[in-house]
Amino acid sequence: TKNKGRNGFSFFQPSMNIIAQNQRQLINDLWMAQDNGELRLFYQPKFRAPDGPVVGFEALLRWQHPQRGLLTPDVFLPLAEKTGLIISIGNWVINEACRQLRVWHLQGNTRWSVAVNLSALQFEQTGLVETVIKALSTHQIPAELLTLEVTETTAMRDPDESIRILTQLTELGVKASIDDFGTGYSSLLYLKRLPASELKIDRAFVKELQEQTEDATIVSAIVALAQTLNLKVVAEGVETPEQQQFLTSLGCNTLQGYLLGRPLAADKVPELADFFTAD
Ligand code: C2E
Ligand code: CA
Ligand code: CA
Ligand code: CA
Repeated sequence: TKNKGRNGFSFFQPSMNIIAQNQRQLINDLWMAQDNGELRLFYQPKFRAPDGPVVGFEALLRWQHPQRGLLTPDVFLPLAEKTGLIISIGNWVINEACRQLRVWHLQGNTRWSVAVNLSALQFEQTGLVETVIKALSTHQIPAELLTLEVTETTAMRDPDESIRILTQLTELGVKASIDDFGTGYSSLLYLKRLPASELKIDRAFVKELQEQTEDATIVSAIVALAQTLNLKVVAEGVETPEQQQFLTSLGCNTLQGYLLGRPLAADKVPELADFFTAD
């Protein structure tokens, strides 16, 4: 068409420039976000199957951007990873989760645990163990109340190295969880040697659980594998009572999802907990 220009690409250039400019601006903002106190952790409850009590929370990162509002990780995490900012942001997340754990601990919720997500870069960074030790000791948190979630893909990138890092961490008493399980390619020999205490079944399998019997078979197989390896199974993305019931009957120990609880700001969490721990 007429708009296309001589080389056939010029039509797209203006909008591509806008996108690039937009991303550059966002990267600039992200550099300041931490110092400006714009990062937040939201907490999504994890329930003992089928419907409680609350056993802990997963910390999920948010960015309260001054102009763009509350941003979810899909908008800025790729930028944080590309620029290496994820290291300092990730260190902030670990410390902040421990600070919050301490607050809840002092309020009497002494059994709650918090799980923190680690990106690949952060997992492989040399200072991780020191960061965890410092956060636990600063906030006087028993190590077993902190769980570190690493995706299956990250854990299997360099399995021997992952075993080494996770061994150092779990020797502190911290727990390890293999996230998004079923989407990567695990070597079962390595999985057996990973000092993890749980597998989290990826939401993709939970989503189609009703329609495709294949997914039900996969979930059963993961549960059987986990039981053999002495790991607990968490199902994430539980949105319907049917999924809740089915996943429980398949043997999942812990459930997480919008049906039971959305990610909440820290100050909204105690209300929810009062509701679920009335026994
Ligand atoms: P993830 O670790 O797999 O976390 C689960 C994601 O699914 C969260 O999205 C959560 O809000 C969402 N979710 C939970 N229940 C449901 C449900 O029932 N239905 C649906 N449709 N979604 C549900 P969120 O908070 O946007 O986080 C996305 C991803 O960003 C996380 O996936 C994790 O990989 C990453 N992430 C979040 N916080 C951090 C962090 O502090 N550090 C690092 N490195 N990554 C993080
Ligand atoms: Ca996770
Ligand atoms: Ca996950
Ligand atoms: Ca995921």
